Amino acid sequence: MTANDISEKEAPHKLFDTLLVLDFGSQYSHLIIRRLRDLNIYSELLPCTQRIADLPFQPKGVILSGGPYSVYDSSAPHVDPAVFDLDVPILGVCYGLQEMAWQLDQHNVLAGEKREYGHAKLTCEQGEGSASSVNVLFQDVPNGVDVWMSHGDKLSHLPESFSTIAATSNAPFAGIAHTSKPYYGIQFHPEVTHTSHGTRILENYAVRICKARQHWTMEEFVGTEISRIRALVGEKGQVIGAVSGGVDSTVAAKLMHEAIGDRFHAVLVDNGLLRHNEAETVHQTLTSHLGINLTVIDASERFLTELKGVSDPEKKRKIIGKNFIEVFQETAHKIAKEAAGTPNAGDIEWLLQGTLYPDVIESIAFRGPSQTIKTHHNVGGLPAAMHLKLIEPLRELFKDEVRILGTKLGIPEELVWRHPFPGPGLAIRTLGEVTRSQVEITRQADRIFIEEIIAAGLYRKISQAYAALLPIQVVGVMGDKRVHEQPICLRAVETTDFMTANWFDFDRPFLDKVSSRITNEVSGVCSVFQNSMCLLHQGIYHG
Ligand code: GLN
Repeated sequence: MTANDISEKEAPHKLFDTLLVLDFGSQYSHLIIRRLRDLNIYSELLPCTQRIADLPFQPKGVILSGGPYSVYDSSAPHVDPAVFDLDVPILGVCYGLQEMAWQLDQHNVLAGEKREYGHAKLTCEQGEGSASSVNVLFQDVPNGVDVWMSHGDKLSHLPESFSTIAATSNAPFAGIAHTSKPYYGIQFHPEVTHTSHGTRILENYAVRICKARQHWTMEEFVGTEISRIRALVGEKGQVIGAVSGGVDSTVAAKLMHEAIGDRFHAVLVDNGLLRHNEAETVHQTLTSHLGINLTVIDASERFLTELKGVSDPEKKRKIIGKNFIEVFQETAHKIAKEAAGTPNAGDIEWLLQGTLYPDVIESIAFRGPSQTIKTHHNVGGLPAAMHLKLIEPLRELFKDEVRILGTKLGIPEELVWRHPFPGPGLAIRTLGEVTRSQVEITRQADRIFIEEIIAAGLYRKISQAYAALLPIQVVGVMGDKRVHEQPICLRAVETTDFMTANWFDFDRPFLDKVSSRITNEVSGVCSVFQNSMCLLHQGIYHG
């Protein structure tokens, strides 16, 4: 049996009741998965082009997502008609509804006279509680609820054997259902928060119609994943992986440790660009607290030497990436040599990677016939360079699931809720040339900013906050003396998806306190900007 076969045998879609979402390219497709996961229902996304005969699992139900195309266009994507032979309930959402109708009739989808984008009031038939009733989809959904519409095409008439179960003033077929088979279509998007009771509709579909068990929890996942890792790595296999102090790599490392103990080797490369006390804290947490077998390599001299004279952020990233791979490889060879002498242990054959489900979705989601589907890039090209097989225990999880899992595994709260920190670290937040002293200024300013955010109880409200050093001289007056020193720019954002963000609105006393501490305590800084006031575009200092 190959590694893939072993991994597949114990994959969540084999062990948990799974709803399959076929993606037609909507921006909201991944939200369907998220809502279902929030309901403790396991769900996976595959491109709409998936051949049903090649499906690696039997889903409890299928959801056809929305999409930007028009079903009647010659280039429009279509579902494999074999989906109707799976003999499971099918729910079409927006394009999905149109696709289902088109598959069954081909003459009933037209461009509407009016695009409908935004809120609409839904009149729906109430379910009476019987699972066989077509109205179960709208059980406990009051009449007149707001739903979110985003379409230009519409059904002109019902496909044969379908009836209408919901309508809006502009969409007479806002909800349709087959009269004898479990096929449903809704023209609105239940997965967005603008649709009130949207989660209820998805729950009605998944639980009442598809009969999916709500057993997808991190407690269950820990057990199944540990047994999958053990089966995959075998009795003697060894695994190596880089940790950064961030939540993903720590949770992945802890999971590996639970599964195979000291046959997992964690490596922290200190590139001299880490946050204040980071290497010590990670060392302490991973070894004393979590019992993980960790090697810390101080390579700060090497990174800073390589970065001399470089101010272009892209170049910095490349240099840091390249050196990271080299240092990691050298360390891995050393560890492999030592490990070779360990009784009952084999070679290091595996590389741990903290890939999350959004990365997987990005690589498999359908983004239109004209675009090549992206292949998932392995961070830093490490596995190929090292001839190692990849092990990715978090690849089915979203970030919030990783956090719940981390808490279950006993990882301290501060770490589980830690803001993300870029791999190239403070080198990116230190604009211009990166020297030890410049990085130290950024590091100290960042420490103060974060300390104050924590003291003000704001850390969890903010998704990411940091201080950046701008390599320009501004005028300040300190101790009655005119000085020319560098400014620090503070940035804090709120985001739920890390795709779009709003800046966090600090109050005046907070900003006064932080800027006075930074100018007083960090030598070389005489002025503090905040992102909202800063005239520089974020891209400039974010790199
Ligand atoms: N493109 C289709 C329409 O405009 C479907 C839109 C959607 O799925 N959001 O009607």
